[in-house]
Amino acid sequence: MTISPKTLYNLLVDNFGYQYWWPIDEYYHQKQKSDPRFEIIVGAILTQNTAWVNVEKALDNLKKHKVLSINAIVHINEEKLKIMIQSSGFFNQKTQRLKLFATYLHKKYQDDFQKFFSRDLTEIRHELLSLQGIGPETADSILLYAGNHPTFVVDVYTKRICKRVPFQVLSDSYDDIKYFFENELQHTILKKELVTVYKELHALLVKLAKNNCLKKKPECLSCPLTKLCEKSL
Ligand code: SF4
Repeated sequence: MTISPKTLYNLLVDNFGYQYWWPIDEYYHQKQKSDPRFEIIVGAILTQNTAWVNVEKALDNLKKHKVLSINAIVHINEEKLKIMIQSSGFFNQKTQRLKLFATYLHKKYQDDFQKFFSRDLTEIRHELLSLQGIGPETADSILLYAGNHPTFVVDVYTKRICKRVPFQVLSDSYDDIKYFFENELQHTILKKELVTVYKELHALLVKLAKNNCLKKKPECLSCPLTKLCEKSL
């Protein structure tokens, strides 16, 4: 037996409900008159190789110092930025990446997200991947959650779930897993709903991983997929 992405999506929504990702602090951005899309970009870079709880501490620090904007990151002293994002780990590297990305948006797009995101998905993805420190997962997270472009995000949780659940994925490479989800959903979901479904499904897979599948001992009895999953214990 195999499970299709649409069946998976319906089962997970029925069990866990909508997740409404990406988490952003709307109140902060209203007050500061800043663009929440930059918080998503910063979060997508800071979450590389670390747990989200560590990213939240770094984001709180950036907000406390009112530097969660392109202009502020471009101009902030590098050493100060390192201290603010220390909790997210690899802070030397991540400071460089934030500075580079913000400077790029500043110089090439004059801080204008509309200008940056209102182009063809393939073109922006290619451009993002050419930037230092931006891999496929970070690029797709930025495109999907900040740019509202229909591109599916594959993370470490998705990869590990794909090894347990009987999906018909060609290999465990990023591109094959992405293709598996997108290929079916593009044909079974209305085009206007695709972005929402990609956002939700990614978040729901993280939820499934944390709640059931990727615990030390998988909690199969309470898992929404238990009847369909060959690895169910
Ligand atoms: S049934 Fe068990 S192994 Fe299968 S997805 Fe659920 S928790 Fe993971």
